[in-house]
Amino acid sequence: MTDFEAQLRLENGRRSLGRLLEPLSALPGVQFESLGGFLSEREKYSLPRFTLRGPNSSDPIRIGIFATIHGDEPAGALAAAAFLAESAKQPEVVENFLLQVYPICNPTGFEDNTRHSRRGKDLNREFWKSSAEPEVELLEHELRTQRFSGIIQLHADDTSEGLYGFVRGHTLTENLLRPALAEAGKILPRNVNATIDGFAARDGIIYTSYEGILAAPMQSEPPFEIIFETPHHAPMRLQVDALVVAIRTILREYRELISFAANL
Ligand SMILES: [Zn+2]
Repeated sequence: MTDFEAQLRLENGRRSLGRLLEPLSALPGVQFESLGGFLSEREKYSLPRFTLRGPNSSDPIRIGIFATIHGDEPAGALAAAAFLAESAKQPEVVENFLLQVYPICNPTGFEDNTRHSRRGKDLNREFWKSSAEPEVELLEHELRTQRFSGIIQLHADDTSEGLYGFVRGHTLTENLLRPALAEAGKILPRNVNATIDGFAARDGIIYTSYEGILAAPMQSEPPFEIIFETPHHAPMRLQVDALVVAIRTILREYRELISFAANL
């Protein structure tokens, strides 16, 4: 059994949240917080958030990383965990940044290995429409109050043979996704179809998206927003590696972009 299979192993028909989260709470320099506390069929759940502050971050660039809003896409949770562990050991990777990592945005769906939450909702269609779903309310609060300069979301698509992504928000966002796809494309193939998931695409980049997805609220300076998708049927190890490389590349490119702009 690989590490990943062990982490995702079912116990009494469910995946274990603790097995994924507990090692992360023990990482040096990483703060763990359970957001909220809500009931699902009389069991109590919360949303885990991990905070990591890189070196030289007195005025940090704030980035939110969100995974597993669809519970049956565990590669994102594993990649968020792997990236957090790697950054705790090599803080230079996150120099200038303050990361808020939400590895499991849909805890009941993660346990059940279902896209929807246990209440039967696709949470990624519920944002900014006064949804009563507690996971969505908690995440909307984070998106409203954390003043993110960038938002990265991790997904897996079972209809795609390759990597691709959606860009939103800041006009320079595609300049971050393009190199991320190139680097991750050394690990898994890219999807270069003209249509992906029903949307027009160019070189694996889609410029529109669904209504109600996890996204920044309207604000005067929109953050960059990237939704990165791996091919769901690819080996888990490769999906995780591709996602970690993509995150690392996006942060590196954004740091360069910011410092270039500051020197103009
Ligand atoms: Zn998804």
